[in-house]
Amino acid sequence: MKLVEEQQREDELKKKYGNVYLLPCPFCGGKAFIEWPGKSTRTLQPITLVGCMECTASVLSEDTEKAIKLWNSRSTKELIKK
Ligand SMILES: [Zn+2]
Repeated sequence: MKLVEEQQREDELKKKYGNVYLLPCPFCGGKAFIEWPGKSTRTLQPITLVGCMECTASVLSEDTEKAIKLWNSRSTKELIKK
């Protein structure tokens, strides 16, 4: 059941942001993934994790959209530097 719910949420996000709603990893260029709802070990609040499949880079936020924005804005900054 959980997997179906996660897939539905991902489909919703893809509808909203398009299939490229997550930019590649700013460190290694790896494919990004999104995971939610996770749970913060510090605040015990539901969190969204956006991370890289290739390395350990990740961002966390209690707000899914904010997590995506954080990941994408950080990627953009890093990409401009190159
Ligand atoms: Zn990476």
